[in-house]
Amino acid sequence: MAKTILVVEDEADIRELLAYNLKAEGYEVVEAGRGEEAVSLLRGARPDLILLDLMLPDLSGLEVCRRVRRDPALGRTPVLMLTAKGAEVDRVVGLELGADDYVVKPFSVREVMLRVRAVLARAEGPPPAEEGQLLRRGPLVIDPGRHEARLGDRLFPLTVTEFRLLHQLALRPGRVQSRDALLDLVWGEERFVTPRTVDTHVRRLREKLGGAGGLIETIRGVGYRFRDEG
Ligand code: CA
Repeated sequence: MAKTILVVEDEADIRELLAYNLKAEGYEVVEAGRGEEAVSLLRGARPDLILLDLMLPDLSGLEVCRRVRRDPALGRTPVLMLTAKGAEVDRVVGLELGADDYVVKPFSVREVMLRVRAVLARAEGPPPAEEGQLLRRGPLVIDPGRHEARLGDRLFPLTVTEFRLLHQLALRPGRVQSRDALLDLVWGEERFVTPRTVDTHVRRLREKLGGAGGLIETIRGVGYRFRDEG
């Protein structure tokens, strides 16, 4: 059955361009030009993915995203955000807002189509790993019960913070995690740390992981991503 994609964008030519190309790829498309319209369409349309512009004339894309996440019937619907370049990106991928991925404007249609496919594939995959579960990521084995990360027989000498950072990244392979989101997940309430702290710890973590350190990718200006080998 064809997947349904809700395209939310107030600029008609961009919206039509996206809708046209999505239909050409075999998706069903529902269009909304305003945030309120998107929210009212959501329940009936039950899209498999929402392609959501950040800058809308009434409700912002962030507010639409927040409402989607709050609605138990829609909460898990993947959201791919369209954003302008700039500081907003950090908030967009933050856990607070829960966008699954983002594309920066001006974008190439090809790039958007690739991201749509990737986000849908991820949404169809196995459910996200549980916090306490043993993770195998490429050659790495991450054991939250023992706070250990291994590669074959080799045990990495990680500090508690480094381990938690590695674990949080590895729980969401392929997904960009902002520094702020990582601060919340790893450091929690200890808010004397700054986003720079995340960079410092990632650097040390990579050094300790040696060759496997390349599994942690830097997304410039945003944060980090654990490479999705699946
Ligand atoms: Ca717009």
